[in-house]
Amino acid sequence: MKIENKFPTKDISDEDIKTKFPLVAKKNASHKSKFVIANVEFGGDLIPVFAGPNMVESEKLILDCAKNVKSSGAHFLRGGAFKPLTFPYRSEKYTETKEEGIKWLLKAKKEVGIPIITEVMEEKYLELVSEVTDIIQIGSRNMQNFPFLTACAKTQKPIMLKRHYGSSLRDWLGAAEYLLVEGNQKVILCERGVSVPHTHRATSRFLLDLQVVPAAQEITHLPIVVDPSHATFWRPWVAPMALASIAAGSDGIMLEVHPDPKNSAVDPLQPIDFKEFNVLVKKMDNIAKSIGKRHVLK
Ligand code: PEP
Ligand code: MN
Repeated sequence: MKIENKFPTKDISDEDIKTKFPLVAKKNASHKSKFVIANVEFGGDLIPVFAGPNMVESEKLILDCAKNVKSSGAHFLRGGAFKPLTFPYRSEKYTETKEEGIKWLLKAKKEVGIPIITEVMEEKYLELVSEVTDIIQIGSRNMQNFPFLTACAKTQKPIMLKRHYGSSLRDWLGAAEYLLVEGNQKVILCERGVSVPHTHRATSRFLLDLQVVPAAQEITHLPIVVDPSHATFWRPWVAPMALASIAAGSDGIMLEVHPDPKNSAVDPLQPIDFKEFNVLVKKMDNIAKSIGKRHVLK
């Protein structure tokens, strides 16, 4: 049987590439987007690292994280002041810090000198967040909230689009096209684990889809970041999967890092601590250098 599709991914046809996501699609085999955000280059030899807690819990925590992850080589501080939490009930510790958290992120950015990425979930907070953040994070759960994607893209701020855990590559690239069609050029994709029946641990809901890195890179010129923290949901597996992500050709890594992982307000099973992060960054840099001319540390 003759296979017409020159691309091996099973759900994307040549016609899709031409008509469904022409802006996201590569123009030729070597086409790769290169852009700079807060002096950090994406799509080149550097593999930027985004690190920080799940939630911006307090001013002290975010300042502490900013200093520590920066000194170990992180390029961006991550952390959510607005959080998509699975259940509506809140303890005091578990409460989103919202506007106050955004202020603390700004303080960390200014005092420590590290750019930030943070999630926004609702259009009503878009102006507030986009004034402060260097990159808008669109979380998995909002990946196909199309009016929201358009509103985020219109700010013309750089955007990270996390993959929904139930989404095909075709749907993910379609969502990214909603951002590019508004003239927004600085779009980063982020794989964060997919929902499958077999996840190896009772605690984890997701499986890291590392194959999507080369699969997406076959089709799109956009950089692909991997977040092994949300995918594995299990601290001992974060480092091996981060190293594997570098080996797979990931264009960036997002990691949850917390000074006291067991006491993280959200998802305490997944963050690594400052020491583990420091060691991991060096190992990621070694892997990157050993397989090509890329690097993690400047
Ligand atoms: C996060 O990065 O904090 C987050 C909530 O991720 P995701 O949207 O991938 O679940
Ligand atoms: Mn999280």
